[in-house]
Amino acid sequence: MKSFHCSCGQRLFFESTDCVACGRVLGFDPESRQLLSFAPGKGPNLQSAHGGWFRHCRNRPDYGACNWLLPADGQPGYCAACRLNDVVPDLTRPGNLLLWQRLELAKRRLIYSLTGLGFTAMPRFRFLEDQQRNPDVADAVVVTGHADGVITINIAEADDASRHAVREQMFERYRTLLGHFRHECGHFVFPYLVSTPESLAGFRELFGDERAPYAEALQAYYEAGPSPDWQATHVSAYASAHPVEDWAESFAHYLHITDALETAAAFGMAGATAGSSADWISEWGQLSVMLNEMNRSLGIDDAYPFVIAAPVVRRLQFIHRLAGSAG
Ligand SMILES: [Zn+2]
Ligand SMILES: [Zn+2]
Ligand SMILES: [Zn+2]
Repeated sequence: MKSFHCSCGQRLFFESTDCVACGRVLGFDPESRQLLSFAPGKGPNLQSAHGGWFRHCRNRPDYGACNWLLPADGQPGYCAACRLNDVVPDLTRPGNLLLWQRLELAKRRLIYSLTGLGFTAMPRFRFLEDQQRNPDVADAVVVTGHADGVITINIAEADDASRHAVREQMFERYRTLLGHFRHECGHFVFPYLVSTPESLAGFRELFGDERAPYAEALQAYYEAGPSPDWQATHVSAYASAHPVEDWAESFAHYLHITDALETAAAFGMAGATAGSSADWISEWGQLSVMLNEMNRSLGIDDAYPFVIAAPVVRRLQFIHRLAGSAG
């Protein structure tokens, strides 16, 4: 993520809604990819210091669930990110508003990354609750996943306690809401990025054959676990389950790494972002070691508990080449 500043000079963040130093109201303009600051005023229209007129997305005054802007002269209502929602949680249920706000934040970060790569096609989103959380809903079980351009997230994944419980149960060292969005987005972008005979041949050489029976592979993975040497070949244990899961996991890591490198560069801590450095993966390797040590100094889990083995490097470089020609 890049770095933002208020017109008063205060450092701001992608999530910021108000400047803590000067009180200006803030909003993110997805067109210019800038966080804009506005003097507090009356009425729905906001004039930025650069002259443009904007409005807040409706989900901001209604639910505090969005900090994005729309042009004041366009259709009022929802921003480019909120318009992608097909189903949002039942907000009359206690606790659901907080979970939905977290889901929206992770989703906006995903959309920021996708548009940064030049994508114009966007997934749609369904945020669903199942009977394990709410006995009154229709779905007994909601599985987080992607199908036909729609990403479904079980909203329990936005609940820290539930997500940690699943993480323990699955012996995972990393399970985050943003990670889910990025993984499912990997499935979404596959047909856009692997769209030519050449890219499909490249994919099969690096990831395997996507036509391999899927249900059987997943069943074998859940019954017998990953192959013992998966760390030498895959970015995560789950990536070793099937080539399409390897792709989705690798794409998620591509977004983790490129976002983190952009952040590090914005803070003067990395020489380059993925777009400008030939050796961005080894730069990330060094940075992630430091990041993990920092976390241990603070008594918290490793931020990036992964080792990027040589075959994984080749897959990430392949995704980078394809993503560079997206859009
Ligand atoms: Zn300010
Ligand atoms: Zn919005
Ligand atoms: Zn998947």
